[in-house]
Amino acid sequence: MAVVDEAFDLSGKVAVITGGATGIGLGIAQGFARAGADLVIAARRIEKCEAACAVLAEYGVGTLAVQCDVSRERDVQAMIDAALSRFGRVDILVNNAGITGAAKPLLDIELTQWQKTLDTNLTGSMLCARAVAGHMAERGSGKIINIVSAGGIKPLANSADYCASKAGLLMLTDSLAIELAGKGINVNAICPGYIESDLNKDLLDKIREQAARKVPIGYMAKPDSLQGAALLLASDAGDYMVGASLVIDGGSLLTTR
Ligand code: NDP
Repeated sequence: MAVVDEAFDLSGKVAVITGGATGIGLGIAQGFARAGADLVIAARRIEKCEAACAVLAEYGVGTLAVQCDVSRERDVQAMIDAALSRFGRVDILVNNAGITGAAKPLLDIELTQWQKTLDTNLTGSMLCARAVAGHMAERGSGKIINIVSAGGIKPLANSADYCASKAGLLMLTDSLAIELAGKGINVNAICPGYIESDLNKDLLDKIREQAARKVPIGYMAKPDSLQGAALLLASDAGDYMVGASLVIDGGSLLTTR
């Protein structure tokens, strides 16, 4: 696909995408690759990252696979160091790595499960933003995109840890957006509704038809459904966007407000 406007062109830019080896992260990575960005794909399963990089390299862009648990401060710093060492710059960070969490009622959630969800979905995003913000501020430009969830706006049943982590990520987005805007760093969020991916495959297998009926647009989204929004937020086209949260859910939230 040709880039239609130079405002959306990512040639010469470098994007770090956490959890970028699968699902939504890989969908965004493919959109960025088509727009010309070099890509750093980071997750715990290095073999998945390497496989994703092999696919992405076919777009003719540079790629780097990095093993990283975003909840570990040392891993995160090593990931950003590896990105800078390979490409010399990081222009875009997509905080996409996330887990569904315990998926249990409050009375059954163990503290370790609660903490893991918060550590991954919220603290992990903070650690990644913190590790790269100094570099971006020195260069006077950068884009940070947090993949939140409609569940960070409207609660889901039996998902207190997930929803709290995502609501926290939404507020982290707004807080960092104000703090970093003056340094040339745009921080924004995307709030997806249900998207078919490994994360919710088991759930969607059970409720696919019922869920699709609840979505005004009439069908479930695919992992590449966020490409357009992510490209907007990552590119010069989004330069005036600060603390925006783009809900991409086929209209689901509208019907339940
Ligand atoms: P996937 O399970 O396909 O992707 C999640 C990715 O995150 C995996 O690649 C996983 O790789 C990585 N990951 C998980 N934990 C960590 C960690 N501690 N450190 C580094 N990487 C990690 O699911 P989706 O693509 O659906 O999810 C992507 C994001 O989108 C998540 O934040 C999710 O909450 C959000 N989202 C998804 C929705 C959906 O309906 N699918 C709806 C709303 C939001 P690995 O296991 O190798 O580390």
